Amino acid sequence: MAGEFSFIEKLRQRAEGHASLTLGIGDDCSALQVPDGHELLTSTDLLLENVHFRLDWTNPHDLAHKAVSVNVSDLAAMGGRPLALYLGLGVPRSFGAGQLDLFVDGLFEGLADYAICLAGGDTCRSANGLVLAITVQGHCRIGQRVTRAGGLAGEDLWVSGTLGDSALCLRRLLARQSCSTALMARHFRPRARLALGQALAEEGLATAMLDLSDGLDGDLGHLLRASGVGARVNINQLPLSSDFRAHLARQPELIDLALCGGEDYELLFSANPQKRADLERLSQRMPLPLTCIGQLSAASGLQYLQADGSAYRPTAGAFDHFAD
Ligand code: ADP
Ligand code: MG
Repeated sequence: MAGEFSFIEKLRQRAEGHASLTLGIGDDCSALQVPDGHELLTSTDLLLENVHFRLDWTNPHDLAHKAVSVNVSDLAAMGGRPLALYLGLGVPRSFGAGQLDLFVDGLFEGLADYAICLAGGDTCRSANGLVLAITVQGHCRIGQRVTRAGGLAGEDLWVSGTLGDSALCLRRLLARQSCSTALMARHFRPRARLALGQALAEEGLATAMLDLSDGLDGDLGHLLRASGVGARVNINQLPLSSDFRAHLARQPELIDLALCGGEDYELLFSANPQKRADLERLSQRMPLPLTCIGQLSAASGLQYLQADGSAYRPTAGAFDHFAD
């Protein structure tokens, strides 16, 4: 690392402003103005080398870009508009200047993709592995944020994009098998569904929402608990990419990756059935597939149904950092 302060100065020079950021990098605090009638949204994520990523698999450019996307995805899940990102960085000696430059390039590419500005952070030498602690802030009109808790029995359950691609990519790479560029892109370059989240919140279409980071099964469980409802999900309606379907045709058990595999970063939301036509129009406008995969129910619990109406149980569970 070429010196903490010259590194910070480089970040400061490249950081673009934002109308709401009244004070950026360089002082003890940043200062942000939230538009009248809006509230501030904040979310934090830790990304640790050898826990969340491996540097022998991921190049620093993709890593930084993905770190931005994963955090912006939490803003998308509330229907927020992005404001600022803060980067806590622990850099080990083994992470060379060339790697740090690639990281910074990927960071600014991600920031530009979502029009979010770098407003501050902290930089340290790490004794053990690369550490990223990222905080994002955004805003939404008071009354428009969509939490996990607003789902009602009888509502439809929708998901954006396709499921399982990232997990399938990871599984194939771990097994040293080839992987299509489309699947690789889903794993290494996920896109936060920011425009979709905003539209769902601002047009009053979603009643409860979250982003899929740990897999549909686990994340839907969070929405159900928060909303105090159950759900029935039709397995044959899960949106799957053509690459995923091709693998599934040979290995039917891969369906569990669409149910339990993590890192899709799609949005899962509930909506009143009267909004179906609006959601189909929104899907065309984005353009991004939106698929109704089931319904919320008054009965508690999560049931997966196969095409013939029989129940299905996935074998793998969601990822839990504190599980034994
Ligand atoms: P302090 O001693 O108060 O922690 P620093 O010298 O660490 O201050 O930081 C100076 C400025 O640089 C602050 O505005 C801080 O937010 C910013 N900064 C430090 N590290 C980073 C980073 N990794 N990314 C973005 N901004 C950073
Ligand atoms: Mg500091």
